[in-house]
Amino acid sequence: MIIGALEAGGTKMVCAIGHENGKIIKRTVIPTETVDTTMPKLINFFLNEGIEALGIGCFGPIDPDINSKTYGYITSTPKLPWRNFNIVKAFYEALKVPIGFDTDVNGAALGEGTWGALQGCEVSLYITIGTGVGVGVCIHGKPLHGLMHPEAGHIILRRLSHDTYKGNCPYHSDCLEGLASGPAIEGRWGKKAYELEDNYKVWDLESHYIAQALANFILCYSPNRIVLGGGVMKQKQLFPLIRAKVREYLGDYISLAKINDNIENYIVPPALGDNSGIMGALRLGYQAYLSF
Ligand code: ADP
Ligand code: ZN
Repeated sequence: MIIGALEAGGTKMVCAIGHENGKIIKRTVIPTETVDTTMPKLINFFLNEGIEALGIGCFGPIDPDINSKTYGYITSTPKLPWRNFNIVKAFYEALKVPIGFDTDVNGAALGEGTWGALQGCEVSLYITIGTGVGVGVCIHGKPLHGLMHPEAGHIILRRLSHDTYKGNCPYHSDCLEGLASGPAIEGRWGKKAYELEDNYKVWDLESHYIAQALANFILCYSPNRIVLGGGVMKQKQLFPLIRAKVREYLGDYISLAKINDNIENYIVPPALGDNSGIMGALRLGYQAYLSF
């Protein structure tokens, strides 16, 4: 069958047509501008392709609760044109197919869980460190919801005493996203993150904050494995730094072979490369088709 997939991001929209086995046959990228300019372009991409379902992994916060009055809305996003926009309704009216809807990171966790590094995990985490920091959680193959969905990119961390950068989260200043996102690195050090590749201090500090967050997530979610993706994690030197510091932050409290002897297989890059999100959206579409 043919399924549409949309990874809706704050700067770009990745659109794809694919099959339920994860194979993508067509894709394009459309910049995220206003609802009025961007939505017609997105709908146009999916029209006349014969899609039988659409999956949307969306920047948040969103309302993924199918029983809620505001189901399908992008809610309190700082991206003003998209605030309180019912994106599911807009696509349903244009395409008339079942729609699966979740956060971009829950979608990416689902993609990695179906075809990538999180296969077979009872509890799986996908974390992106990019323009923002997002955390997707799947439990028994289903994205975690509850009150809304995890927004664990905004947890409060213990700041390192020599770090005087105030943080750049518009809501909390020095939450995880405010201290460790790509723009936070650039704000703190005054250069693009990729230009700082050789500066050990940058990645040592960065790995402290990511490791603290991971230690918290390990304690709270008890994940079987953690995938770290997003633009900042293109700095592969971060992986060994983060793994060592996670062990330090956990201390001897969690004394498991998975963490002590085999952490290289516990904190890993995405197996699907840059496709975790779009393949996850494809899977969301397929799940919506099955449950329709
Ligand atoms: P988005 O989060 O917008 O979907 P990305 O995951 O690509 O997009 O994240 C973009 C952020 O990642 C930017 O702040 C950028 O500076 C940073 N980034 C991108 N490539 C690299 C790299 N090679 N090294 C370090 N940081 C990078
Ligand atoms: Zn925040």
